[in-house]
Amino acid sequence: MGLLSNEHSGKRIFHKTAAEIELMRKANLLVSKTLAHVGSLLKPGVTGEILDKEAERFILDHGGRPAFKGYHGFPATLCVSYNDIVVHGIPGKRAFKETDIVSVDCGVEMEGFYGDAAYTFAFSKVGVEELDLLRTTYASLYLGIEQAVHGNRIGDISFAIQDYCERQHKYGVVRDLVGHGVGRSLHEEPEVPNYGRRGKGYLMTEGLVIAIEPMVNMGVKEVYQDSDGWTIHTKDRKASAHYEHSVVVKKGKADILSDHSFLLDAIKNNADLQEVLPKS
Ligand code: MG
Ligand code: MG
Repeated sequence: MGLLSNEHSGKRIFHKTAAEIELMRKANLLVSKTLAHVGSLLKPGVTGEILDKEAERFILDHGGRPAFKGYHGFPATLCVSYNDIVVHGIPGKRAFKETDIVSVDCGVEMEGFYGDAAYTFAFSKVGVEELDLLRTTYASLYLGIEQAVHGNRIGDISFAIQDYCERQHKYGVVRDLVGHGVGRSLHEEPEVPNYGRRGKGYLMTEGLVIAIEPMVNMGVKEVYQDSDGWTIHTKDRKASAHYEHSVVVKKGKADILSDHSFLLDAIKNNADLQEVLPKS
């Protein structure tokens, strides 16, 4: 789940101990396996509501608590955001189509710590233009993660994502929602925007845990919120992509707590989905 950039979490910055990081790894492992479970269930005709029920049961069966359900009144376990929905889609009764792209965002609380990750799935008949948006956005996530090292600033992450998606690929990077610190709360400081200037912003040091989550539009960067108070759409109703990992800032190389390998395996075994890998 992204943070509205005007929302301010109100939670200050907490660096995590090694033991706390291992607890966060456990929460993120359950997030990762839940996303894989969802990936195994995705097929045309399935609804967001069905995925949500399955995800909730899966999380509870594995000793976690769905982190989004009840968060500021959000009514569901997953955010399910298809096509022109950027993020925060409420799982509903619309049946998926074989041309859909579907962002699934999942948060879990376990033993007092939160995990948070997301992936945009592509059904079998998604076209090359949408696939390019997805692969570009996914690549930008890893470019951002490369910058999440001790001694760098948040702006180094922001710049890497924006430069790749906007300057190099002419997509629109969403400004109204940002990544965030994560830990004992789903949203902590600092904010992690997907746009910004190199060398600016909070100085990152070892033990900072952040959720990096580029939200990138095929067309304009502007978005609007639906009358349901949650769903964020692109203003021009063109497609939008969203990928997210929770990562620990370390010396030399970030430690990625969430693990997309489970869902990538699920996609391989699901003929209704196409694999989306970061553009190389
Ligand atoms: Mg999330
Ligand atoms: Mg998030």
